[in-house]
Amino acid sequence: MDVLVIDDDPLVLALLAEFLEQLHFRVTACGSAEQAWQCYERTPYHFVIADLVLPGMGGLELVEKIRQHQRGNACYILVVTVRNTADDLQAVLDAGADDYLTKPIDIHLVKIRLAVARQQIGQMLQRKQAEQELLEAKRVAEVANRTKSEFLATVTHELRTPLNAIVGSNDLLMYTTKLDDEQSRYSQSIHDAVNSLLHLLNDIMDYSRLDIGKLNIVSIPFDLELCVQEAVDLCIIDAEKKNLELLVDYDTHLHTRYLGDPQRIRQAIANLVCNAVKFTHQGQILIRIEQYAHEEKTEYIRVSVSDSGIGIPEDQFEHIFDKFTQVDNSLKREYGGTGLGLAITRKIIQAMGGDIWVESVIDRGSCFTFSLPLFKEYVAHDKSALLHGLQGLSVLVIDGNPVRCNIIGHYLMAFEMNFHTENSLDEALDHGHADSIGPYSFILIDEDMLSAESMQWQELFAHPTI
Ligand code: ADP
Repeated sequence: MDVLVIDDDPLVLALLAEFLEQLHFRVTACGSAEQAWQCYERTPYHFVIADLVLPGMGGLELVEKIRQHQRGNACYILVVTVRNTADDLQAVLDAGADDYLTKPIDIHLVKIRLAVARQQIGQMLQRKQAEQELLEAKRVAEVANRTKSEFLATVTHELRTPLNAIVGSNDLLMYTTKLDDEQSRYSQSIHDAVNSLLHLLNDIMDYSRLDIGKLNIVSIPFDLELCVQEAVDLCIIDAEKKNLELLVDYDTHLHTRYLGDPQRIRQAIANLVCNAVKFTHQGQILIRIEQYAHEEKTEYIRVSVSDSGIGIPEDQFEHIFDKFTQVDNSLKREYGGTGLGLAITRKIIQAMGGDIWVESVIDRGSCFTFSLPLFKEYVAHDKSALLHGLQGLSVLVIDGNPVRCNIIGHYLMAFEMNFHTENSLDEALDHGHADSIGPYSFILIDEDMLSAESMQWQELFAHPTI
């Protein structure tokens, strides 16, 4: 180890140097702090023994300079002083010294301090080396991860081209040629298998691109309400097959025009809604879009998708956002899927400056929510033209679903219309609404109530005031 010793008394300096050399230190002896500083600038020392009172630059100033320029080098500083008041010694420690000794120097105490210093410096060097090894390992792992993601992104992209050709040819076979039943079944199997393969490839490609930061998030003008509707439309067929109702509650106070990435927002919402449909057997799925904060140019929105499905155990709330993670492997057999959808969704949302989380109760349902800051797009928007002729008119809403009634009510309020809701046709007829809010201009009625057997609605429509 290298030791720098500073004392303006040549005798003390010589004695200290001799003593340290006997202990196998490489010693540099300096008569002033200025000289010591020049040496330190050339070679950082592991151990410094400095006299406090020196002509010119003092010991304290030297200690402070060493600490400021140390740049991560391990250095143990021992100050030797004749001043031994509590304030003097505190000042030595405050300047950055590790310890002090009062004169006359007890050489055995120096030996003890050196042993302590050796141990401390050894530990610091080990720590530093471990940190460097860790940083190097992290760098190597990041390069490997990036290479893997680039490889995946390229391979999946290349695989899609021949798969698209198979999809196209098979569609031609199915829809433009005459196939017997057996051939149709085979063709349908090809169609299903290739589509799920394409779905998987698209997910892997998206995830890999997000991993290497190649998925650009654009900022273009778009209509959020339309974007939500398009996302919901992607899941409507599956929802209808399961007889599930998809309801959208778009906060009427929200802007609709924003600057953002509609394709990615649509993808995130569609992932959540399609999952909700997949994991729900009965009931409804409610997609709610609301504002939770705003600034002059930005609105902070929250999109939540709640279902009445199988639910998720609480200890899985975080894990399901990891790649290739599903709550339970048996679910994969029952519901299919890759376990990539939520990982992609979270990366997309985070790349847009938002966050996503889930709340759920087993067998009661789940609610996935994401937040998103969006820039408002300022367009001349003449609200009065939209409302023209609607304000003040009366509407009777007949619908058995209270959530749907609520959503319709929000829109009617935004249009400044009067409205009244009834749960059924019977109630609507019994109550004779004309007396309470005046003659209705419109009746909004759930299509399911217009069955051929129930002809009451004709009675309602025949009301003279409507
Ligand atoms: P995938 O649906 O393709 O398996 P995801 O990443 O979209 O992958 O979802 C991961 C897992 O999270 C699903 O396999 C399922 O276990 C759970 N999950 C996601 N959404 C829901 C939901 N709405 N209800 C219940 N479980 C869900």
